Amino acid sequence: MAGQAVDSPTHFDSFNPATGEVIGRVPHSTPDQVAAAVGAAHAAQPAWAALPDAERQARLMAVADVLHEHAEALATWVTREQGKPLGGVGPDQVPGARFELHGCEAWTRVTASLPLPVDVVFEDDTRRDEMHRRPHGVIGAIAPWNWPLLIAIWQIIPSLRAGNTVVIKPSELTSIGTLEMVRLMAAALPPGVLNTVSGGGEVGGWLVEHPRVDKVMFTGSEATGIKIATAAARHLKPTTLELGGNDAAIVLPDANPRAIAMGLFWGAFLNMGQTCACAKRLYVPDSLHDAVVAELRALAQALPMGNGLQPGVALGPLQNRPQFDKVKRLVDSARAGGATIVCGGEPLPGPGLFYPVTLVTDIADGAPLVDEEQFGPVLPILRYRSVDEAVASANRLQVGLGASVWGTDTAAAHAVAQRLQAGTVWINQHGAIHPLVPFGGIKASGWGVEFGAEGLKAVTRGQVISLKK
Ligand code: NAD
Repeated sequence: MAGQAVDSPTHFDSFNPATGEVIGRVPHSTPDQVAAAVGAAHAAQPAWAALPDAERQARLMAVADVLHEHAEALATWVTREQGKPLGGVGPDQVPGARFELHGCEAWTRVTASLPLPVDVVFEDDTRRDEMHRRPHGVIGAIAPWNWPLLIAIWQIIPSLRAGNTVVIKPSELTSIGTLEMVRLMAAALPPGVLNTVSGGGEVGGWLVEHPRVDKVMFTGSEATGIKIATAAARHLKPTTLELGGNDAAIVLPDANPRAIAMGLFWGAFLNMGQTCACAKRLYVPDSLHDAVVAELRALAQALPMGNGLQPGVALGPLQNRPQFDKVKRLVDSARAGGATIVCGGEPLPGPGLFYPVTLVTDIADGAPLVDEEQFGPVLPILRYRSVDEAVASANRLQVGLGASVWGTDTAAAHAVAQRLQAGTVWINQHGAIHPLVPFGGIKASGWGVEFGAEGLKAVTRGQVISLKK
């Protein structure tokens, strides 16, 4: 914190999910250490906000250079700790840990370049009213384990761009890589501008409750989001909540199964399905059901699974035991309920937490595997008879993060997209996020958006300056 590494009286272990090995020990921050980190951020904030805009942007570009320079080492940490294969970068390669680091750098450069808008909201002969964007002050950021570096970047960089300082707590399941990345980034910034604390939910709770944390950026589960919103409300503290999803993908009758198969596959199985905006329920018309299943099964069986540090591995382990157990429970319950397991469906022998890509058919809306956020490498494929029925199915759950529509006639797909209740609806792609395109959920998937100009608004408060002419 404030540029100083601080040890703690107690520690916890971080594990490699591909081997079960302990890969490091993480300090468990105390309440005093959380308070000291927030104090450092609070002390540094006025000078950081007072820097000329161009200078703050230049500092963030220097952070992007640091991320570029250390990308390979950080990607290796991601693979060792989170499990996703190292992979490559680009459309033809496995979107793994190198892809995550590529995203970290890209988001940093794009966000650093964004202007902070000053909008003239009203003007006539008598007055001129401008809306300025001001930083909140100290942002408390709390991150999940599935994209541990990229999601931390999404929280940190816009916050800093707007003149806030940050205290971030990574997930206790993937702390080492994030702490290492933030240590490198913080060294390129003035002391106190970017700070970390580490530990489990109680440490996150201390951060949320601290009176000098002015806004909370949270990405994680709905259950934790409710706790954070409740705690923050007691202090009338604003929050941005990026929560869970259960995205529907609808294949329209004019889709070409072969043409859409690869996009659908990674739309469902990116990061072993451990991605908030992965396709989690696939609705297909009777006429295309068998062809779509065959295409997806061929891809599932062709891609090698294993320790992501080994070359050629495309699919890694699940990240943690509760996640592994949840996937197993939901697939077992689907099987017991009469569903067909087209491929996968049984965990692989340990020591790693390997669960294969699993396609499930002969299953209906209402089954736990369809209705719960399983967050794993499983795709239930459901038949529909009419597009109206598919739209009703897609909209029936109390979550609304992403959705997708797949078809040849893009005007028809667009019309269906407009009927879906989700923060983002993709057409002929799924999960295709971009640093300039707002992203966020509706219903129980959260409130607020990230990315681009809208994302900067989320880490600022408006101030009107009203001039009498
Ligand atoms: P989680 O809610 O268990 O934990 C997330 C973070 O919150 C961790 O750092 C954890 O230590 C902390 N935390 C737990 N209890 C807390 C409390 N009471 N107060 C403050 N902090 C607390 O979520 P997870 O299992 O790490 O992540 C998976 C979930 O995240 C899934 O539901 C997924 O859909 C969601 N997610 C959403 C997005 C999005 O952009 N919408 C992106 C990625 C993941």
